[in-house]
Amino acid sequence: MTQLRVVLVKPSKYAVDGSVERFKKGFLPNATLYHIASLTPARIGDVPVTVHTVDEYVWTDLDYLRWLHHDPDAITLVALVGVQSHQFHRALDLAAYARHHGVRHCVIGGPHAMTCDTSLLQGRGVSFALAEAELIWQQILDDALAGELQPLYGRNQRWAEKLPGTVINPPSTAELARYTAPMLGLYPVRGCPYQCNFCSVIKISGRQVRSPDIESTLESLRRAKRGGVETIIFVSDNFNKFPSVRELLRAMIDERFGLPFFCQCDTQIARDPELVELLGRAGCCEMYVGAESFNRKTLKAAGKHHNHPEQYVEIIRLCRQATIRPHFGNIIGFPNDDEEEIRHHLDVLKELRPTVASFFILTPIPGTEQYDDFRKAGLITERNLDRFDATCPTWSHPILSAKRLEDLLYQCYVSYYGFLLKSGGLSIKEQQQAIYHRYTAAQRTHPMAGGVDRLRLDTAADYAALRRAVYDIDLVPLPDSLSLSGRDEALNRRIDWRVQRPVEHATS
Ligand code: SF4
Repeated sequence: MTQLRVVLVKPSKYAVDGSVERFKKGFLPNATLYHIASLTPARIGDVPVTVHTVDEYVWTDLDYLRWLHHDPDAITLVALVGVQSHQFHRALDLAAYARHHGVRHCVIGGPHAMTCDTSLLQGRGVSFALAEAELIWQQILDDALAGELQPLYGRNQRWAEKLPGTVINPPSTAELARYTAPMLGLYPVRGCPYQCNFCSVIKISGRQVRSPDIESTLESLRRAKRGGVETIIFVSDNFNKFPSVRELLRAMIDERFGLPFFCQCDTQIARDPELVELLGRAGCCEMYVGAESFNRKTLKAAGKHHNHPEQYVEIIRLCRQATIRPHFGNIIGFPNDDEEEIRHHLDVLKELRPTVASFFILTPIPGTEQYDDFRKAGLITERNLDRFDATCPTWSHPILSAKRLEDLLYQCYVSYYGFLLKSGGLSIKEQQQAIYHRYTAAQRTHPMAGGVDRLRLDTAADYAALRRAVYDIDLVPLPDSLSLSGRDEALNRRIDWRVQRPVEHATS
């Protein structure tokens, strides 16, 4: 009897020096990888299905490449999952590598294929997945088994109207050991009702907030705990917009999971002290909030109308009260930013003093509204998709040069964490974190790059000839964004603000 061998790979990216970015220890297992592994049945009819999972960022050797070779005893499907624009070249190269080594079924999915036009690359032996896995994954598996993949999956519908409950099986002990701590990422909710023009989340997951039943999340937590996971990352973007969040947190408290977790909330959390208190009781140890800017005009111009900088201090206060580390995300290089504005931003941040701060360069991510606007205005200067990772300058800023923007990015880290270390009051763990951020940024490496101790094993040059042979390109030209189908537009229009803005409704 034959078997179906599914190789799921989260591709890394090519760093500026051309090497494949890899770390001796990663920060967090990729959530999509284990989500899709958990969506894969153990059998299809009589055929057993085996799954290999590879997070390229944390493989310290190239042994896994053998899984991308034809196996005479099995039908092999290679799926490059969760591929963002800056990982797209790497995904194409791995698919070309697998094809070259006799694998007939290769598919690339994730944010880039969902939101960007890939027509130039279609019909060359690699398929593209344009929709959420829940809508198309079973079809892809069935087609691989039947002998042929379709060139495209999910062209007419990007998002499932309802998300089925999927229980996530945690990574094995050996896989967990590749990370600095045993963690697992879970998506209990998808989508965001807002419309920030730089945001890819609303293009990837839509504006309708959708979630499976909470029992599947609870069962995922139970399995995670049994499997040795010690920290959970709820990777959903706006955990506070999740209609069942209170129900989930109360169940977590009742079951005494004792699993610390990270979550992300929007700034409207400032108006929901009861939820912050509940988060703290359920084990939330860190809350990421996209503060982005302290300039209300800048925020409004970016479509982030719900961010009111005068409320940020309340977020810090509520988090501290609930023993949650506040983590502020900051964007530098908005069109109106100059050096003085960025210095002022740092001064305000130091007054607020969140325990963790991350900095990114404003990046027109392919598929977003901002990308379309900047491209139309001829502002995008970078031609290599590998650089669209929010750490590199990619467009012509009206005031700041590319070099200055990059310098400022690292200076923000060095200055902020130097300040935190000098002003004291940090726990040992927080001090270590601050030292790591400051040291890494001083080496001009982004602290959020994905892991510690970089390794250089292979480079883009090793795959250049294959890329040219299979796709007839050296670099993928900057793509057009894909527009939404009528069905997806209709789902976006069905936002229920009563559910998704409960606090504002309660107080207005
Ligand atoms: S609030 Fe966050 S997730 Fe929502 S659109 Fe804005 S940036 Fe995106």
